[in-house]
Amino acid sequence: MKNLKGIHHVTAITGDAQKNVDFYAGVLAMRLVKKTVNFDDPNSYHLYFGDQTGSPGTLLTFFAWPGTAKGRIGASEPVAVSFQVPKGALDWWEERLETPRKHARVAVTDPDGMRVELVEGNREAASPAIQRIHSLTLNLADLKESGSLFVNGLQFAEVGENRYQVGDGPDAGYVDVQPGAGGRGMLGAGTIHHVAFRTDDDASQQEWLRHVVRVGLHVSPVMDRKYFHSIYFREPSGVLFEIATDPPGMTVDEAAGHLGEKLMLPAEYEGARTELEATLPPLRTPGLELVV
Ligand code: ZN
Repeated sequence: MKNLKGIHHVTAITGDAQKNVDFYAGVLAMRLVKKTVNFDDPNSYHLYFGDQTGSPGTLLTFFAWPGTAKGRIGASEPVAVSFQVPKGALDWWEERLETPRKHARVAVTDPDGMRVELVEGNREAASPAIQRIHSLTLNLADLKESGSLFVNGLQFAEVGENRYQVGDGPDAGYVDVQPGAGGRGMLGAGTIHHVAFRTDDDASQQEWLRHVVRVGLHVSPVMDRKYFHSIYFREPSGVLFEIATDPPGMTVDEAAGHLGEKLMLPAEYEGARTELEATLPPLRTPGLELVV
């Protein structure tokens, strides 16, 4: 069985789609790479932000639940997502976000109150743009039990105190853990719904599915998410994990140069397009380019 390749995407909840787009596509200058609906609730948006081609490993996605109350972060929940920017680019971001770095990271909250951090990678680049998801921070009620699954079940490497590595080389992602307290959280605006890890293809996902069953966790059947195929399970503390395939990817229904421009619907909702387009609030995408 091949090791997981890194972080695939993170999915969170926003109470205001337009403010969300203004922040991620505007302030953070990520690309809105897919505007679709929640496949389980087509009357609400599912928005994907990522790099120019929406590569696995760069994706932060949001279920937009208009007007939903702020959520509460519980004892076992993802609490932050960290993006990698090029070596030397953090000065530029400190200025843009008017936030000085602390412990080598610039930390801000998005309009819903979710924690977003920027950290420097090892490579320089011409543009200071966000390159990919670098790491996640998880609150865990049972660090020991979860840590044991991460290492023995999911083959993460323990690379520091409360830090695990998934994948190798430039694709490697990190899972930072901290003791959680305060009981169950409440999903709502500003909370992270789940985190997903990368696998190559359907065959390797099948191996992972069998493996997750073997280590004693309850796992979902394979779900077709159009842009990837997914299985879901809760790790021992209760955080929802997903294993997602790299293919078919964001260009399966739109050309790379036009990602995110149109409302994209899975086949089963195409018949309801007119109605959905009338119901979903219009979204303006800021046309900002990063200029250095
Ligand atoms: Zn997902």
